[in-house]
Amino acid sequence: MLNLNKNRIALISVTGDPAAEIGKEEAGGQNVYVLQVGLALAKLGWKVDMFTRRNHPEQAAIVNHHPDCRTIRLNAGPAKFIGRDKIFGYLPEFVKAFQEFQRREGIQYSLIHSHYWLSSWVGMELSKHQPLRLVHTYHSLGAVKYQSITDKPAIATTRLATEKACLETADRIIATSPQEQQHMRKLVSTKGEIEVIPCGTDINRFGSVTRDQARAELGIKPDAKVVLYVGRFDRRKGIETLVRAVGQSSLLESDRDKLQLIIGGGYRPGQSDGIERDRIHGIVKELGIDDITTFPGQLGKTNLHLYYAAADVCVVPSHYEPFGLVAIEAMASRTPVVASDVGGLKFTVVPEITGLLAPPKDERAFAKAIDRILSNPEWRDELGGSGCLRVELAFSWESVANRLALVYNQLLSEPVVPMSAPVLAA
Ligand code: UDP
Repeated sequence: MLNLNKNRIALISVTGDPAAEIGKEEAGGQNVYVLQVGLALAKLGWKVDMFTRRNHPEQAAIVNHHPDCRTIRLNAGPAKFIGRDKIFGYLPEFVKAFQEFQRREGIQYSLIHSHYWLSSWVGMELSKHQPLRLVHTYHSLGAVKYQSITDKPAIATTRLATEKACLETADRIIATSPQEQQHMRKLVSTKGEIEVIPCGTDINRFGSVTRDQARAELGIKPDAKVVLYVGRFDRRKGIETLVRAVGQSSLLESDRDKLQLIIGGGYRPGQSDGIERDRIHGIVKELGIDDITTFPGQLGKTNLHLYYAAADVCVVPSHYEPFGLVAIEAMASRTPVVASDVGGLKFTVVPEITGLLAPPKDERAFAKAIDRILSNPEWRDELGGSGCLRVELAFSWESVANRLALVYNQLLSEPVVPMSAPVLAA
């Protein structure tokens, strides 16, 4: 029997496996977003199936996160890591595998929420064969990304065309910040329905320990001045700007024995993130700040919250950031944020209230902002307190899921008209 249960939805995230370890190559905000939204929706009573591509032969086909929330890995192309720019050719296999899964399980999803442009292509293909409501979140826009790079990948034209088609035809687009919405309108299309619903964070996990407790657990001295980066090793993240900013901090003269730069994030030797990590390490050595810099590797369940809480300032120096989960995770941990004045960071970080903004790639401006916070602990605490309050009010996963549920309910209450013969009819 076919199950057209309206509470059953599919989140499609071809490249962002919600069950993956976070902080390594290409596993970042999108993976966290899909998993946390899936879990929060399940708690609201939705049955959530999250589809991704299997990228390792030993990966489980299904991972249950909650009785009503699971990750389902479909076979599409070889079961190995393939960079995002090389996946497109395998998408027809993904569509077939999805349709086969539906057939096998006797399910037909009437709402799909797709993530990243590759998944929007899958969603649009599926909607040609079954009645479907399509909701999409971009996570990153090619039109913005390609502005800042000189060597566009071969897939660029396909990506831009897919992003435009999706904006114009999906039932609803979710922008995660007003800045992302403006970019869609200015750079992609004036057609299509967009709703702004921000990303969220786990306000119980981040903010659960004080700075002193976190430092005691991590073995960091109570009077240390800690500058923290958390994220993937990717040039777009601007870690070089942070390192060069610390290299010209005035505290190098006055408080060198107290200053600590911690650069957290996973990397694999020889892969693109390992290569970027080595490049950054090379700059650290060249600047002579090797003695005050540490690379603790991938941060996770047991220690990520401790690093955020232990820091005096968390720096997000990205060249571009559609949303930037790290900023709100740090804010939830009562740590002020110094971030690039771009994208979603302009929306989450309120300058002079929860942190400071600086022009991207401007190491001098970053150095000044970091020094201002490090040299004034009382102000640091004020900024940290306001950041925490802002996250509690605006960025919990529960509130994100509630707002998404309103969108889904509204779309599902409208009659679903088949676009062509449903694939499950046979
Ligand atoms: N992250 C992590 N461990 C690490 C590095 C990063 O768990 O070692 C997480 C981080 O906490 C955040 C996500 O990866 O939730 C990065 O998301 P963001 O939106 O900041 O950047 P993206 O990776 O999407 O570009």
